[in-house]
Amino acid sequence: MVIRSLFVGAVTIACVGCSHGASPARGPVPAVQALDRTSLDTTCAPCRDFFEFANGGWLSHTEIPAAFPSWGSFNQLYEHNLDVLHDLLEAAAKDNAAAPGGNRRKLGTFYRTCMDSAAAETAGLEPLKPELDRIAAVSSGAALLAEAARLQRAGARALFAFAAGPDAKHSTEVIAEAGQGGLGLPDRDYYTKTDSTSERLRQQYVTHVARMLELAGTGTADDARAAAQRILTLESALAGASMTRVQQRDPNAVYHKMTVAELGAISPGIAWDEYFGAVGAPAVTALNVRQPDFFKALSGLVRDRPMDDWRWYLRWHVIARFGPWLASPLANEDFHFEQTLTGVKEQQPRWRRCAEATDNALGEALGQEYVAHAFSPEAKRRALEMVHNLESVMEDRLHGLPWMGDTTRQQALTKLAGYTNKIGYPDRWVDYGALRIEPGSFVANVQRANEFDTGRRLAEIGKPVDRTRWGMTPPTVNAYYNPRMNEIVFPAGILQPPFFNPDADDAINYGGMGAVIGHELTHGFDDAGRQYDAVGNLRDWWTAADGDRFKAQAQLVVDQFAGYTAVDTLRVNGRLTLGENLADLNGLRIAYAAFERTLVGKPRPPLIDGFTPEQRFFLGWAQVWRGKYRDEYARLLVNVDPHSPPRWRVNGPLSNMTEFRKAFACNPGDAMLRPDSVQPHIW
Ligand SMILES: [Zn+2]
Repeated sequence: MVIRSLFVGAVTIACVGCSHGASPARGPVPAVQALDRTSLDTTCAPCRDFFEFANGGWLSHTEIPAAFPSWGSFNQLYEHNLDVLHDLLEAAAKDNAAAPGGNRRKLGTFYRTCMDSAAAETAGLEPLKPELDRIAAVSSGAALLAEAARLQRAGARALFAFAAGPDAKHSTEVIAEAGQGGLGLPDRDYYTKTDSTSERLRQQYVTHVARMLELAGTGTADDARAAAQRILTLESALAGASMTRVQQRDPNAVYHKMTVAELGAISPGIAWDEYFGAVGAPAVTALNVRQPDFFKALSGLVRDRPMDDWRWYLRWHVIARFGPWLASPLANEDFHFEQTLTGVKEQQPRWRRCAEATDNALGEALGQEYVAHAFSPEAKRRALEMVHNLESVMEDRLHGLPWMGDTTRQQALTKLAGYTNKIGYPDRWVDYGALRIEPGSFVANVQRANEFDTGRRLAEIGKPVDRTRWGMTPPTVNAYYNPRMNEIVFPAGILQPPFFNPDADDAINYGGMGAVIGHELTHGFDDAGRQYDAVGNLRDWWTAADGDRFKAQAQLVVDQFAGYTAVDTLRVNGRLTLGENLADLNGLRIAYAAFERTLVGKPRPPLIDGFTPEQRFFLGWAQVWRGKYRDEYARLLVNVDPHSPPRWRVNGPLSNMTEFRKAFACNPGDAMLRPDSVQPHIW
């Protein structure tokens, strides 16, 4: 995973064939107030627990809607964006005048075939029959690799991950990259943890896999049960050879460029020729192998495990990938396991799942229509202005850092000057001309869309990096920093209230969108991002002394967050969340400084809702992170999400900020004021 985003939510999380969330109520979101006073709990002192002060009212009067694993500001905005997409797609689906082969026709057809639940019931398992027949014929390691390649192209998680991206040490060139994968549960930790909750979840997983295999008619109940157990054994072996998320945060630990011959030498059990022949990549001579140990282990498993186990494994992954779109017995069982993982109570309405599926498959075709309706040139101009203001503050602060030597400082300034800012939507859109979308089987449309997407990405291997590409679609409520392109990217979907509200005062907008921009800017200088240079190469440009000083300060943040409880007795993982916590802290600091500049030379703004501008800045941040999670989902996130829970994204950084202490007149001993000795000072 190259990209550092703001938030893991509805659209970015990987789990078992599921999509999250559903809309509790249709219709446009009402005009958003700059600050929602009913959200406050003024009986809680801001210096005791600011998250509670800012959001306690909302927390007490808000229920998580039944079809959601969590609910908060991000969800509310995303629901609004989905309502826009829904209207666009309904119109496209009815537009008989849309040009055949054009984007609008494809959008309408894709969405309409998705909405046709009656066709899904009638088709039964027919859409998967070609794949299941091919899997039944797999009788050698070579055939296994060729079939895994086909399934990967169609969107299934079979054996491992294979992708194309900028070479981390030669960032102008696209290379192939192979990495660990092939699991059905959301993370390797689900297979390796020995606590009773994890043990129980694995049993539930086996039951679920068996049920899906049985419903798919691939065997009797007893066959399916035995097969599910063997699948768990196989996946546990893959998990045991996989790196943890914390280990993968070190970019050097996942960079092992080698020739295909060298890869073959460490993994002789894997038929690489057959794999590359089937995956549809241009000739690959060298590639980055993110986890060589994983491929050594996979090689042994392919050689040693019975081919029957592998056929069951492939069947499971193809059924899991398309289960949500098959006839209701399979779709319902798929949802049942989503409930186990996330705690959701109800299935989402079909239109909502279909709008998301279209965003996944044809994101830049749909995105063009979305921005035409929901994103003005004026909004783009204002967002860009804010980005420039933040970059200017960051530059001034780099000049003044007392702990950084001039050698490192010059490199840091060069890096900052090299940032690319992407706002709203791509300048050049994906050309979907070669993608066939047809009436009939929706599963077939999804497979073709995945094959098209994989194909166009892999076709870039060996070519110069195309710097116009985006990693998120325009309606996405999220943002990211990409270290290999040294770019910050803000989709139109997040440049909306409450993050960015044209009707709000600057204080609220700088505390919301300003701090989000600061967050992404800072990722280029967090514990992972700082290891890349101005042009996106993984290269150590720090003096040893400056690097040591950085690490000592970062350790304070690790220790701080490791002390917070996420859910039950589970603590936040201070190492997993370090990059995000650093980004929040510094993002807030530079956004605050940029906000202060807006006050210079003007009359002092009056109180609004009884708060000073400085106080409203922090309230802006707190209301962006207003949210609550079901316990099951919180347990899932603590394993996989590099972001801290909302309460700590508010209280964690603010309790390190002198600016916050001053704004609310906090005193030593208040929980929101951490002692000077443990406050990190980095940028
Ligand atoms: Zn982030």
